Amino acid sequence: MVRDPYEPMRLAMVEYQIARRGIHDPRVLDALRQVPRHLFVPPGFEREAYEDSPLPIGQGQTISQPYIVALMTALLDVGPDDRVLEIGAGSGYQAAVLARLAGGVITVERLPEVAAQARRNLERVGVKNVEVVVGDGTRGRPESAPYQGIIVTAAAPRVPPPLLEQLADGGRLVAPVGGRDLQELVRVVRRGGRYEYEHAGPVRFVPLVGEHGW
Ligand code: SAH
Repeated sequence: MVRDPYEPMRLAMVEYQIARRGIHDPRVLDALRQVPRHLFVPPGFEREAYEDSPLPIGQGQTISQPYIVALMTALLDVGPDDRVLEIGAGSGYQAAVLARLAGGVITVERLPEVAAQARRNLERVGVKNVEVVVGDGTRGRPESAPYQGIIVTAAAPRVPPPLLEQLADGGRLVAPVGGRDLQELVRVVRRGGRYEYEHAGPVRFVPLVGEHGW
């Protein structure tokens, strides 16, 4: 394999931005060490890819801060046979991280150009178990429900009800919920007909635009 010149920056990112802030799940840390984040940002921004912040990816959208990707991945608690649904493909980076932990990932993206970019990025890094779909993710993807994990990477006033319906028994959903400018990260666990809510801190995401979003 060709040596990756960005690997030292990536290992430092995982150590200083993620492990030292309390995320210790070894599978999550390994996934973040393995996915070349610099290949999911616009050309010329490769070094910024490993900084402690989100980055613009075009069309007014952003790739989330590495710590937030790690936190949401840890909260999703994905197993190797799980089927995961992501809403908001963006760059495809979060999907690539989840793909290392899950059986398969379906990621829904509203903007066709952004979806095409995510597909190209995922292909370039050799990720095979992610399907990028264009559509309104606030409706979920009933065709392949239920999902053991659902992750929403854009912010909505509340968790879209179709996503709760498409969650498997025992499944986890992680989403930023709240106002347009600031949200709370919410984790929902389905237990039969009951949904248990936990809060995991304040976050800031671009809006989820659609039938059950803004
Ligand atoms: N997970 C991405 C970051 C997502 S940014 C990454 O790893 O890079 C949020 C994305 O959600 C944007 O690309 C935006 O176009 C998309 N989005 C907004 N509303 C949506 C909807 N209703 N369905 C699907 N995608 C949506």
